[in-house]
Amino acid sequence: MKEENLSSRDKKFLWHPLTQHKLGKPQLPITRAKGALLFDEEGKEYIDGIASWYTVMYGHANETIISALTQQMQTLDFVMFSGLTHEPAIALSEKLMEILPSNQAKIFFNDNGSTAIEAAIKMALQYFHNNGEKRDTLIAFEDGFHGDTFGAMSASGLSSYNGPFEDFLLKVVRIPVPQEDNLKEVKSKLSQILDENECAAFVFEPLVQGAAGMKFHSAKGLDALIGLCQEYEVLCIADEIMTGFGKTGKNFASDNLMNKPDIICLSKALTAGMFPLSITSCSQKIYNRFLSDEVHKGFFHAHTYSAHPLGCAAALTGIELLNSPEISERRDYIAKAHCSFLDKIKNHVKVKEARTIGVILAIDLQIEMERYGSLRDELYNFFLQRGVLLRPLGNTVYVLPPYIISNKELQKVYDTITEALNTF
Ligand SMILES: *Cc1c(COP(=O)(O)O)cnc(C)c1O
Repeated sequence: MKEENLSSRDKKFLWHPLTQHKLGKPQLPITRAKGALLFDEEGKEYIDGIASWYTVMYGHANETIISALTQQMQTLDFVMFSGLTHEPAIALSEKLMEILPSNQAKIFFNDNGSTAIEAAIKMALQYFHNNGEKRDTLIAFEDGFHGDTFGAMSASGLSSYNGPFEDFLLKVVRIPVPQEDNLKEVKSKLSQILDENECAAFVFEPLVQGAAGMKFHSAKGLDALIGLCQEYEVLCIADEIMTGFGKTGKNFASDNLMNKPDIICLSKALTAGMFPLSITSCSQKIYNRFLSDEVHKGFFHAHTYSAHPLGCAAALTGIELLNSPEISERRDYIAKAHCSFLDKIKNHVKVKEARTIGVILAIDLQIEMERYGSLRDELYNFFLQRGVLLRPLGNTVYVLPPYIISNKELQKVYDTITEALNTF
């Protein structure tokens, strides 16, 4: 009997995320990955142009991270993080304190991006509760994305994900992102919201809104909004799950701000794609509000796999790589290459707007496409057929490659985009 291939076995029992299975789009089986490359069953290779949802920034199957993980596995696989502690978590907290904005003082562990946001929101609500205050409102940007659990989904403003659940969400009021030309209006809208509601927290993706289509906003504007919130003691939560670990040029997007967020959420590139782990860090002021002789003023929130030693080991090694001379050189190279490619294509008739910051490049096409529509799928397949994995967000094509991508591979990504511009 002929052995079934992975595609047909996949169809039997699996349910994929963000997928309408009735439309029958096949899932591409990947059997192996190395560096910037993915390989399918036939051995055909694909350049991972978005670092598998911006996680594997040091490349797939990175030897340095693998050996750190192997060693950790053989020493201590896993223990609970309540009542027990371990060196990988301690070392990671020390390492993060060296690179996080200087007002960050405590590290709380979760296991994915959404739950990092969930913990941040709960921290903010309990921060006021512990003080006998009831603050019930969150502030968030239009079109933000913060994850798919209920708190995170409440803060998110993308209706393609929230539709069926909108009646069941937390109370959130939205403001537009600040640009150079609307800052006055956004500030006055925020002031009004702060005056009329009991606001607990302002949740935002600093500088770049990833899932919205790699949309940029003004650092100066965001700084002003954070400053205003902090005047009202509203806690500012920076969702750096996408932007963290060098994406915008600096270690964190918050490094571009004068007013530092009270809480920062990290995941994705934190563990370089090797392990699900996330972090909610906060300032001393927040931590202190949970110190009490009453047990239940503590933060009674936990996930079984909190601070998994393997995730911590991967994260520690990743952070060491992030600012190594080799990776720094690549980060600079990609940023410069993005700029010169952008110069070449920005006047193309099919380009509506193109932008870049750090290693992120985004191109809005002068072609209408639904977020999960068929023309968008054609574009996705066009790239795949040419050996490049890009995942257009509607009509926005973005590139966010692993730092270790070779010059030649990056050039192939650009050439394929140019070909698409000339074809669609
Ligand atoms: C991916 C992402 C999340 C959610 O993280 P998950 O690990 O998918 O739950 C939240 N915020 C931002 C900005 C993200 O990019």
